[in-house]
Amino acid sequence: MSDHLMASYQYLPVGFVEGTGAYLTDQSGQHYLDALSGIAVCGLGHAHPKLQAAIADQAGKLIHTSNLYHIPLQELLADRLCAYARMEKIFFCNSGAEGNEAAIKIARLYGHQKDIAEPVIVVTHRSFHGRTMATLSATGNEKIQAGFEPLVQGFIHVPYNNVDAIEEAIGNNKNIAAVMLEPIQGEGGIVVPDPGYLAAVRKLCDKHALLLILDEIQTGMCRTGKWFAWQHEDALPDVMTLAKALGNGVPIGACLARGVAAELIRPGSHGSTFGGNPLAARAGLTVLEILAEEKLDQRAEYLGNLMMNGFRAGLKEVDGVRSIRGKGMMMGIELDRDCSELVRMALAEHLLINVTSGNVIRLLPPLIITDEQAHQIVRMVCRIVKQFLGR
Ligand SMILES: *Cc1c(COP(=O)(O)O)cnc(C)c1O
Repeated sequence: MSDHLMASYQYLPVGFVEGTGAYLTDQSGQHYLDALSGIAVCGLGHAHPKLQAAIADQAGKLIHTSNLYHIPLQELLADRLCAYARMEKIFFCNSGAEGNEAAIKIARLYGHQKDIAEPVIVVTHRSFHGRTMATLSATGNEKIQAGFEPLVQGFIHVPYNNVDAIEEAIGNNKNIAAVMLEPIQGEGGIVVPDPGYLAAVRKLCDKHALLLILDEIQTGMCRTGKWFAWQHEDALPDVMTLAKALGNGVPIGACLARGVAAELIRPGSHGSTFGGNPLAARAGLTVLEILAEEKLDQRAEYLGNLMMNGFRAGLKEVDGVRSIRGKGMMMGIELDRDCSELVRMALAEHLLINVTSGNVIRLLPPLIITDEQAHQIVRMVCRIVKQFLGR
């Protein structure tokens, strides 16, 4: 253990040196089944042969040139990603928070264009949008904001999964320019809104000429059984952000936009040194190819149903289990008590899971797992949960 890392993370007592598919190998050669994918990043699992070959090939050709020059691979990725997402323009960056920063800047430009001197974005309680100053100010979690005041102005927080609350906020404030939310809240505890919520927010934004910004950083790239979670309700946003699984671990983020929102960034209004460099763009392009070839959207839907059915059967009438929810391969099991300890219990059995929001077990397995691996995760999680609850 090095003493030279800032204490931002409380590391678990294991470090990995290799991986294949859904398995990781630690420093002493032990194998672990990965049901977290590096927090929804490695949707294609570890060391996917096609991605590995593409990255190695690209590293041998060209890694970086800067955005002072055309980057053909970035242009190709923009074209392909826009086609999948029904968007028109993309700004590439290196992380989720940066994607959201771009989205927030677009919302402000949009507000100013409408002669709103101090534009406001409606955001939701329990949301997570990142750790930079603007994105943590947008985030609906006081723990993430504590100590970093003064926060960035221009956000109003309303309850999630509540259209009336957004409508009321709009009625009370002439300065609102945009609504920004996650189609399913990830860090907030795998909170799946009621059917119709996204479509209703889309309608509301149309009615009041507000931008709908969807943070698909965790939900995007086939995770929920569709390429993007807005597709479950055809709630096409004006601005959408991606990161996490877009590069399967090679850092890349993106802010996509259409319509007026796509035209607001002008030369000089935004930028990134690394954003969309040849290596990251090649990784992104290859991820798109693999997702399409392996039909991982359909696979995620199938596996998600299989696993959710398994959890519902395996944890039926278990006292202490409050709810089992999710979509595709984004699943949460809420207990009636803090269960952070489950992460270490699972680790001891060589299974990697996460607990978020204190009492929600979060599962984000790679989309490439076999049926048998899916069943194995279900069996192990059910056993560990029952053991933890003393059932
Ligand atoms: C992970 C995440 C972010 C932040 O992404 P970083 O790459 O860590 O900056 C933002 N929004 C959502 C919904 C996320 O899940």
